[in-house]
Amino acid sequence: MPLHTSRIKEKPGKKLAVLRALKLKCPNCGKEKLFRSYLKQVNACPNCGEEYAHIRTDDAAPWLTILVVGHVIVPSMVAVQASGVWPIGFSAIFWPAAATLLGGLVLPRAKALILGVIWYDRAPGSEKT
Ligand SMILES: [Zn+2]
Repeated sequence: MPLHTSRIKEKPGKKLAVLRALKLKCPNCGKEKLFRSYLKQVNACPNCGEEYAHIRTDDAAPWLTILVVGHVIVPSMVAVQASGVWPIGFSAIFWPAAATLLGGLVLPRAKALILGVIWYDRAPGSEKT
């Protein structure tokens, strides 16, 4: 069984593939959705036939999400709290909610990014032999 099963003959460049993945689209053709639910990738792209079910991103996406969200939320929180503008009660509700919302937005894109890189490079993480 061939490793590359796509109906598209020419593979996109790495930058284009990653940009398509960040838009939550198929890295190969960019036309169809990469996920069938919040974090579950499609088995294969309905447009180009590229298979994604065998690619596992494991813990990379949550780690990347924590890295990004932490670097946005923590400095913002420290700056706002140091200025003393917000009452502590408001901050106790706002910052966890902001971190949860931002994490929810970043996590699928982080998974798509990792998945796009693994797909492009045929890197370990692919369970296909
Ligand atoms: Zn496709």
